[in-house]
Amino acid sequence: MSDYKLGLEYALQQDQNDELKTYRDQFHIPKNKEGNPWIYMTGNSLGLQPKQTKSYVNQELEDWANLGVEGHFEAKNPWLAYHEFLTKSMAKVVGAKPIEVIVMNTLTANLHFMMVSFYKPTKTRYKILIESDAFPSDKYAVESQLRHHGYDDKAGLILWKPRKGEELLNYNDLENILKKHGHEIALIMIGGVNYYTGQYFDLKRIATLGHKYGCNVGFDCAHGAGNVNLNLHESGADFAVWCTYKYLNSGPGSLAGCFVHERHAHKKDLNRFTGWWSHNKQTRFNMRDEFDQLPGAEGWQLSNPPILSMAAIKASLDMFHEVGMEKLTNKSKKLTGYFEYLLKQLGEDVIKIITPSNPEERGCQLSIQVKNADKTLHNKLTKAGIISDWREPDVIRCAPVPLYNSFEDVYRLVKKLKSILNE
Ligand SMILES: *Cc1c(COP(=O)(O)O)cnc(C)c1O
Repeated sequence: MSDYKLGLEYALQQDQNDELKTYRDQFHIPKNKEGNPWIYMTGNSLGLQPKQTKSYVNQELEDWANLGVEGHFEAKNPWLAYHEFLTKSMAKVVGAKPIEVIVMNTLTANLHFMMVSFYKPTKTRYKILIESDAFPSDKYAVESQLRHHGYDDKAGLILWKPRKGEELLNYNDLENILKKHGHEIALIMIGGVNYYTGQYFDLKRIATLGHKYGCNVGFDCAHGAGNVNLNLHESGADFAVWCTYKYLNSGPGSLAGCFVHERHAHKKDLNRFTGWWSHNKQTRFNMRDEFDQLPGAEGWQLSNPPILSMAAIKASLDMFHEVGMEKLTNKSKKLTGYFEYLLKQLGEDVIKIITPSNPEERGCQLSIQVKNADKTLHNKLTKAGIISDWREPDVIRCAPVPLYNSFEDVYRLVKKLKSILNE
């Protein structure tokens, strides 16, 4: 978009015209000692707390206090079915069918449980392909799966790397890897939006390509859920996992999401780890010997889930449901486009934006490489009340979140960055 303008007045005008402007007030924005709100640019790390979260959690605390075990049936939101209150909204957020989605466990745990079912190594096809800059937890997880199955974690891992001097990944390179090694690869596991570069991959393209070579395909969408339109069902991926404490604002360490494509929903022969919560709901409490598999993503649950954490997820999802991903991503594209426009004024000799410039290939995060910078830059920003994320040696990651960040936030951030760089 080329109609962006410089100056604070323009930013304030955009905030005035913003159809989501009332949502900022529905969040707790942390403040500095002087009582001024931080410019919070780390919703990609831990989303802010919606003000309504407290009442959702309190409801469950009160029902527990007043009802004890009876709360499973008698609570305002009966605990026995609590996860079902989340499924529909969560499915909408990630573009899936309700039968494909479950909220359970934590992210890396879900990744392992998915690999129990979808990483099925054989003597000739046992390798796992990941992006070279995968989030460390994902890399550790797939390496440990290789070792668990008795394979060498170096020989078994294939990395999709950027070309020399580049940061972003190129699909032609992925095709070439698959042409050469496709027959040896059991699983392709990619971060749907790369946590470092902010590159949003074409999930459908990767899944289609992987399936053509007989590989299973899964995505870690921790940086995608609540940030971009993932269209998981359409993508055809076998599985996906994500957390809810980043863009989904559900609190530190909160439960994670999991997607299993509909075509696997009724397969009884898929290997998996099970518990009583994977068992048919009608007969779960008969405590019989024979196991009766629940269909769909629900069938991967193990335990009765933590309701307090789910209450916080419900508070957030109710807000996402009200807003809808369409409006959210519309604003997000404008806001991040404006951020990019302002950053470009600083000059290409000073900063380089690593994140793709095509709005369809990114979410709200921009990863900014600053020439000759070190961590003191990040410290100065923090001191000025701008909360961003630093990655050695010279990259700042900032994520203006459409629900609670403003054009004014972005304006003030770039202004401060400029003044620090000019010191
Ligand atoms: C945030 C993040 C994680 C963190 O995993 P947890 O199990 O929630 O601690 C893992 N992978 C990716 C890609 C992430 O962005």
